[in-house]
Amino acid sequence: MSVVIERPGRPASLQEQDPELAAVLDAERQRRATQIDLLAGENFTSTAVRDILAGPFADKYAEGYPGRRHHTGCAHADAAERLAVDRAKALFGAEHANVQPYSGTSAVLAAYAALLRPGDTVLAMSLAHGGHLTHGSGANFSGRWFNFTGYGVRERDGMIDLDQVRDLARAVRPKAIMAGAISYPRAIDWAAFRAIADEVGAYLIADAAQTIGLVAGGVLASPVPHADVVCGVTHKLLGGPRGGLLLCTAELAGRVDRGVFPFTQGGPAVNQVAAKALVLGLAATPAFGTYTRQTVANAKVLAEALEAEGLRPLTGGTDTHLVTADARAVRLAEGVGLTGRAVEQRCEAVGLLLGKCAVPFDDVPPSAASGVRLGTACVTTQGMRGKEMTELATLVGRAIRVPDDARGEASGQRKAVAREVLALARRFPVDDEPAAPS
Ligand SMILES: *Cc1c(COP(=O)(O)O)cnc(C)c1O
Repeated sequence: MSVVIERPGRPASLQEQDPELAAVLDAERQRRATQIDLLAGENFTSTAVRDILAGPFADKYAEGYPGRRHHTGCAHADAAERLAVDRAKALFGAEHANVQPYSGTSAVLAAYAALLRPGDTVLAMSLAHGGHLTHGSGANFSGRWFNFTGYGVRERDGMIDLDQVRDLARAVRPKAIMAGAISYPRAIDWAAFRAIADEVGAYLIADAAQTIGLVAGGVLASPVPHADVVCGVTHKLLGGPRGGLLLCTAELAGRVDRGVFPFTQGGPAVNQVAAKALVLGLAATPAFGTYTRQTVANAKVLAEALEAEGLRPLTGGTDTHLVTADARAVRLAEGVGLTGRAVEQRCEAVGLLLGKCAVPFDDVPPSAASGVRLGTACVTTQGMRGKEMTELATLVGRAIRVPDDARGEASGQRKAVAREVLALARRFPVDDEPAAPS
């Protein structure tokens, strides 16, 4: 039995303390319950994850590493971080793990800090072909501080052009090769990247943030035996808290740890670290393997069904939770072809969330883009299966054929699709409790 002692004058609820913000949170709760989330990098956390995030570690400072903290009172923070590290090492068969990075971006920054000096040459997937911001964007620290050369995919089949990677590696002699992408739906041949890195004496960094959960579930081959440092996150397929993860060899452990703290971070978010421990443990269970296989099976069904709607899957399909598709061939009453931006907007107007993305060799600027990217992590967490993937593709196909007009027939068509999206969302509730009425 617990006794709640109210501090004098303490507001009883967020509603009383800050009605303006309470209304924003209610609106977001409502949005979650009524839209369908096909955004590639998102997933839904469990109540247990959110309880840990809101729990006693939320306020703890624990700068440093277990047993070597700059703050007192860290015995339990040490225990939580040791659990997370040990589980990460066991799950991925890695010699060393660091669970402190605040995000995927911080994990990549720390990996660069561990292996590179400003001005070093790095060979990475170009952003236009699927690379992440941290793989050399001029607007990001990566492009500012390092000298990036970009490789890409073959125009013929959309697959990573390993011959080009080898040729560029021989030409620019990079200090590191970065393998990994944000918008590439296929398995990456880590061993082939390793062979190229060895040939030119480069480090191999794997940015597996997008797919590390599929590696954990046994669906995709692991980069761990091949890469010097592997970067990951826990908030995508692993279904955990927002945050990054680094795996490396014992030899690089000290450099990677120092690359995180004190080089690029101060005190870790101990509540995130504890929640990482939970999902890294759960990811070793057969149930998680089943989840990851279903997620990929769903993506395969979705890719095929989208093709029937005129959204042509890049690379012809997927090996992952991702589907990338070219919107230029969609047949509309008003003609042929949509931009990715138009697909994204027309879908959002009916409650379907997906993202525009550039297609390789795109002929329109990235702000419009010719493609879209979808992921099946959220809908699989909700319990959807192949049947619902076909249903979703049909809804996407109908949504993108509704012209942009605000009134008249278009408005009626849009409302009809939106009603079906809502009905599907209601059949697979995200949260245990019903959303608060707005
Ligand atoms: C998601 C992702 C990141 C960045 O993660 P953040 O937590 O958003 O910083 C980096 N690289 C790849 C390949 C990703 O998929």
